[in-house]
Amino acid sequence: MKSRNKPLDSTGNASFINKINKVKVLNLIRKTENVSRADIAKLSGLSAPTVSRIVEGLLEEGLVREMGAGVSQGGRRPTLLKFSEQGNFIIGIDLGTTQIYGVLSDFDAKIIAEVRRPTRVEEGFASVMKATAEVIGELIEYPLGKKKRIYGIGMAVAGLINRTRNIVEFSPNFHWHKVDVVEALSQYHKIPIIFDNVTRVMALGEMWYGLGKQFKNLICINVGYGIGAGIIIDGKPLYGPLGLAGEFGHATMDKDSRALCECGNYGCLEALSSGNAIAKIAQARLREGRPSVLREACGGNLDAVTAEMVATLARQGDPLAFEVFDTAVEYLGIGIANLINLFGPEAVVIGGGVAQAGNLLFDKVRKTVNSRALDKIASGVLIKPASFGIKAAVMGAVSLILSEVVNLNQDDRFSPLPG
Ligand SMILES: [Zn+2]
Repeated sequence: MKSRNKPLDSTGNASFINKINKVKVLNLIRKTENVSRADIAKLSGLSAPTVSRIVEGLLEEGLVREMGAGVSQGGRRPTLLKFSEQGNFIIGIDLGTTQIYGVLSDFDAKIIAEVRRPTRVEEGFASVMKATAEVIGELIEYPLGKKKRIYGIGMAVAGLINRTRNIVEFSPNFHWHKVDVVEALSQYHKIPIIFDNVTRVMALGEMWYGLGKQFKNLICINVGYGIGAGIIIDGKPLYGPLGLAGEFGHATMDKDSRALCECGNYGCLEALSSGNAIAKIAQARLREGRPSVLREACGGNLDAVTAEMVATLARQGDPLAFEVFDTAVEYLGIGIANLINLFGPEAVVIGGGVAQAGNLLFDKVRKTVNSRALDKIASGVLIKPASFGIKAAVMGAVSLILSEVVNLNQDDRFSPLPG
């Protein structure tokens, strides 16, 4: 979606004003239950004829439907309108390093069908794209009835995504440099594709379908193999000029650390707190000869120790496992305290594999934030697990397309697939 990056023409020409009014009306219908044309006129300040004209257009496009009659205020009973989730679909893809997870969703974030396939990173970019195209193909083929319309494919990818050039600049997890995902997939399917960094995508999903219904300022942190942050300010994700903002995992936490990060720096948060780091630190302590049940848990193969094993044994009271996990999560808590001081969010949401450790992680993070962040900023901040658990990225991918639909960013390349 190149059009998304272009500033809108704000010179006040007619088509610009028409579009703004249309977006206003569509979003009023989406957010307000049982709304009539007269209500919209009142709420939007637009004239009744303007509202009628816009609603007719939205009905024709299938974005809105009529719901029957409401209560009369004297005279004819008004027809109520509803944002149309029926017959309109979106494909969401979470392109992870272990699996490609695809869903077919309606506009209400209800999952209609899902497909999973192993990623096989070692087979290279072209092979991963072919497998992704197959997942998309299966979802397109899913029987949906005559009037289906698939609006687009949203995708979450781990790595530095350059939005101005629409490429993955660098993905250490996939070992990709400067790859064009959209071009590769468009050789298989002609549906518009939007992709973004997985953590920002998770934050968007949280904003559209989760905590965003309550809050306009939130930070979503993904703690898995690596660490990233999706920062939402006043309802808008922070991108930075190239779309590279939010690399929380590469904040230096310890200048004297000897923990080497995949970015080449030492002492990054990701080298101290990620799932990968937790596993590696535990392995190093075991090699030093420290006693721990972890040794039995991995069957003597220290390379097989995972962050999940460390969390499980930490919860069972193994001193080494607890020390490794607790130290890692303390660094994470310090990082989050810094983010809270900087951005003053209403909520911090933590997702990803390591967050599945539950209270073991959240209790320590909350305690560290309480002791390190400024009271006045941090006292009211809600810190909680991501609303969609392991589905956070894929639901965010769906919301990438939904946000284009409700902002009517549908240019020629963004027309729905006919049924
Ligand atoms: Zn780093």
